[in-house]
Amino acid sequence: MAIPPYGGTLVERVVTDDELADGVRSTAHPGISLTNDDLITLGNLAHGHYSPLAGFMTQSEYEGVIENARLPSGLAWTIPVLLHVAEADRDALKGQSRLALYDGRGRAVATVEVTEIFEIDPERHCAGTFGTTSPDHPGVQDLMKRPRFCVGGPIHVGATAFPALRHQHRPAQNRQLLEDTGKATFTAFSTRNICHLGHDYLHRLALEKTDVLGINVITGAQVKGNFLSDVVFDTYEYLILSRYPTGRVLLNNLRLPPIYAGPREAFLQAIVLQNLGFTQFIVGRDHAGIGSYYPKYGSQEIFSQLSGLEIEIMAIPEPRYCNVCREVTTEISCPHGGADVRLLNGRDVRRFLLEKRYNELESILGGEVQDILIRMFEERTSPATDEVEMVKSRPLLYD
Ligand SMILES: [Zn+2]
Repeated sequence: MAIPPYGGTLVERVVTDDELADGVRSTAHPGISLTNDDLITLGNLAHGHYSPLAGFMTQSEYEGVIENARLPSGLAWTIPVLLHVAEADRDALKGQSRLALYDGRGRAVATVEVTEIFEIDPERHCAGTFGTTSPDHPGVQDLMKRPRFCVGGPIHVGATAFPALRHQHRPAQNRQLLEDTGKATFTAFSTRNICHLGHDYLHRLALEKTDVLGINVITGAQVKGNFLSDVVFDTYEYLILSRYPTGRVLLNNLRLPPIYAGPREAFLQAIVLQNLGFTQFIVGRDHAGIGSYYPKYGSQEIFSQLSGLEIEIMAIPEPRYCNVCREVTTEISCPHGGADVRLLNGRDVRRFLLEKRYNELESILGGEVQDILIRMFEERTSPATDEVEMVKSRPLLYD
């Protein structure tokens, strides 16, 4: 039997384009234009990734989350989901029951039922979300730039507002894909990075212990210097075709704005992955962490502190390359440490690639990923000799 959605019901907040147009006409307020991050959040609310939420948080929902990591229903929830509006909009919305939302191209994508408008305290918000008010923390920096006023209420999102992106599955669709395999256990792995040997180690564990591995590539942040999501998908497609057992690996494009909330963000990911139908979730060391703000295994510990999830957490120590064993191990599977082991990370991948230190890449990526990545890199950085190549020539990294 399929795992239930978080909170019991899979929410969908989609209306026809005509219904959306009616909603937009029903308000005298001109509406607001959403940032890229807010659009991702809106899509997740609309399609059920954030079930049971049916819209942007009201004040009581918000207060429950930042004070106790709970919704008023008692269900654990760790990250505020807010619609910020400027002070002028707060005033202009008085007496209006709807607010229209537009994308960056001026297209109406949704309306919100204006249930209430409230003001947040940025310091309290940051302490309750990020566990810090340090102005150096990127989440704190983002929040401090946002207006303090928020509109809470249910949303109505147009059916054509969010065309599906490459490998992007909505929860209902992902659940169907998993059900169609006829299997019972589905492990979710989430990453923002290209597949290195440490990921490969975790993938093999998942494939040994459960029926299906879901590789959820988190996109939407477009962090400067990171690989383009298309590059990450290209390498995973290649791996799935060439190396993984047929029919046992599912690739999913998981849109999430950058949050930088460490353990609390890992908990949100678990909610989303349960809503997508996964039964297990691999949580590594410092999952969704940033700098040194969170304890080393805080993202694993939060799952024993907060209850309510039915997705099972597979807490696994960080895989690293052991020079003595000459393979990828963890601190519990081999006795070596210190100078004998080498951490595997995406930062080194990018550095070695850009500096053309290809032989060092192999010890992080393994032969197959290394080969395809170098091929893409050479293709995309060599000077174009004709128009076809110019079209083909895309950057590898976000700038
Ligand atoms: Zn060892």
